[in-house]
Amino acid sequence: MEDSFKHKGLRKKLVDEIRNKGIHDEAVLNAMNNVPRHLFMDNSFLGFAYVDKAFPIAAGQTISQPYTVAFQTQALQIKKLDKVLEVGTGSGYQAAVLCEMGAILFTIERQRSLFDFARILLPKLGYYPQFFYGDGYQGLPTYGPFDKIIVTAGAETVPPLLKEQLAIGGRMVIPVGERQFQVMKIITRNSEVEYSEEDGGNFVFVPLLPGLSDQNRTNP
Ligand code: SAH
Repeated sequence: MEDSFKHKGLRKKLVDEIRNKGIHDEAVLNAMNNVPRHLFMDNSFLGFAYVDKAFPIAAGQTISQPYTVAFQTQALQIKKLDKVLEVGTGSGYQAAVLCEMGAILFTIERQRSLFDFARILLPKLGYYPQFFYGDGYQGLPTYGPFDKIIVTAGAETVPPLLKEQLAIGGRMVIPVGERQFQVMKIITRNSEVEYSEEDGGNFVFVPLLPGLSDQNRTNP
């Protein structure tokens, strides 16, 4: 679990780069400066951990591009002790950034190998979200409502159950669109029945898939 001066130096440069790309929330930049992204990727990929790019992880998934993590986190307007739901734990990097900002986090992943990786790594770094192995389309009805919801995979439409689990006054950030690219939707719940929506530009995510990854296996 080494975080050397070299790692810290590379990370600071990356954070400066993200600031120059237009991220202005210092709390987000500060959290990203504190989370050692290289520990979320295979050791041999250190050279890639601090470039502003998405990168392949296990199970054909990706660790999101740092700029994208910064953009989604900034759009959420995280306050300490916000109750946050993340759909798509993946490497756990975005989860760590949210915990670093003081969120009370609930995170769901449908790929068993990624779920297992993140729930072991994050506590070692001092982050204690609640991990769920399941289908993020359903959200976590018994744990809601959530002040913030972040979806880190591209959805064809906004899952209705997630909208229902958003607290009044809460915000959801979700990339919506076809496979090639998605539009980042920032949705605010104004009342029991009224939601408003802003577009935050185009991004590319792996798809949000239904069900569990091992549901059809004959030999679990
Ligand atoms: N937040 C992650 C990004 C991972 S990519 C990170 O920081 O690394 C998106 C993740 O969403 C993948 O791990 C994928 O397996 C997961 N995913 C896709 N569909 C899902 C669903 N229906 N429920 C839960 N997770 C899902």
